[in-house]
Amino acid sequence: MTKKHIALVAHDNKKKELIEWSKSHRDSMLACEVFATGTTGRLLAEAIGMPVHRLQSGPLGGDQQIGALIAEGRIDALIFFWDPLAPLPHDPDIKALLRLAVVWNIPMACNRATADLLFSSPIFLDGYTRGVPDFTDYNNRPL
Ligand code: PGA
Repeated sequence: MTKKHIALVAHDNKKKELIEWSKSHRDSMLACEVFATGTTGRLLAEAIGMPVHRLQSGPLGGDQQIGALIAEGRIDALIFFWDPLAPLPHDPDIKALLRLAVVWNIPMACNRATADLLFSSPIFLDGYTRGVPDFTDYNNRPL
């Protein structure tokens, strides 16, 4: 079984919830290679005691780094607890990350219920291969 590569991001008002969630799925998390934006990654590493590939903080480019990893086919799932009640300076980056996860058919959980369902799935860690979209026609479209 190859390790799933999981990316996690939580906005400040959502960090507590993400940390609680990660503790409740610690065993599954330990079976994954974990990537996270800077502060989320620091808190995750402290909370569950595992190595985390820490990227830049979201507003400093971390969301875009995760988007780039997705576009390179290096992320299998995204847990993104974004804050629906606060305007954030890097809103364009947030939208871009959400968009790329859809473009590349990445399983994406934006709240705890969906993240619970994803990580509770018996096929998530071993047995599910997501379809990677074929953009050949898009890349060769006549202009
Ligand atoms: P952070 O970035 O994990 O460094 O706080 C997340 C964000 O706010 O986008």
